[in-house]
Amino acid sequence: MCYDNFLNNYKHEGESLKIEIWPSPALSKKTQKVESFDDDLKCIIKNMLFTMYSTPGIGLAAPQVNVNKRFFVLDIDYKREKVTLPDNTEEYHLDEFNPMVFINPVIKSKKGEILYEEGCLSIPGVYEEVKRAEEISVEFQDIHGNQQQLDTDGILAVCIQHECDHLNGIVFLDRLSLLKRKFIKKKFLKERQRDRDE
Ligand SMILES: [Zn+2]
Repeated sequence: MCYDNFLNNYKHEGESLKIEIWPSPALSKKTQKVESFDDDLKCIIKNMLFTMYSTPGIGLAAPQVNVNKRFFVLDIDYKREKVTLPDNTEEYHLDEFNPMVFINPVIKSKKGEILYEEGCLSIPGVYEEVKRAEEISVEFQDIHGNQQQLDTDGILAVCIQHECDHLNGIVFLDRLSLLKRKFIKKKFLKERQRDRDE
C-alpha cells in the first residue's frame, strides 16, 4: 500500500489537498467516528501527511481537508532545510520524519497548565498563546485499527489537544479570551478580504 513506503519518497507519492481556511464551515462541524480501516483511509492519511510536510505544518486534522472524520496526523520532529540546486532554484529537503497518526482519539486525562504559542494551517499568519494542559493521556487507534495509548507532555501534548479540538469543530482562536478572539478574527477576515481585492 501507498502508506508504508511513503516516507522514503514522499515527494513523488503524495497529492496536495486543499486546506480549508477559517471561517470555512468544514472547521466548525463535529466529526464522525472512523469505522473502516481500509485503503481509502490510508490514502487520505498519506495525502494529509504530504500536504502537511509540503505546506509546511506540524499537524493536520481531517476537517482541515474537508473530511468529516475523527483523525489527524502530526510530526513535531522533522527537519526542513532550504537547498539551492545547480540551476539556482531553491527547494526544501526534509529529513528525520516521525509521522504520527491518531484515529478516533480520546483524551482520558489532563494535568497541569502550559502556555504555548500556536498557529494553524487553516488560519495562516496568526500565532497566539493558548492555555492547554501540560500533560495528557490519550487513547486512539492506529492506521491498522489497533487500540493505542500515549502519555505525553509539552509540545506533543499541546499539538494533540489542538488537533483534537479540530475534531470537535473548535479552532485555537476559540480558546482565547472573548475580547482577543473578536479582535483577531476581525483582523484576519479584514486581511483576507484585502488580499482578495488586490
Ligand atoms: Zn489547526
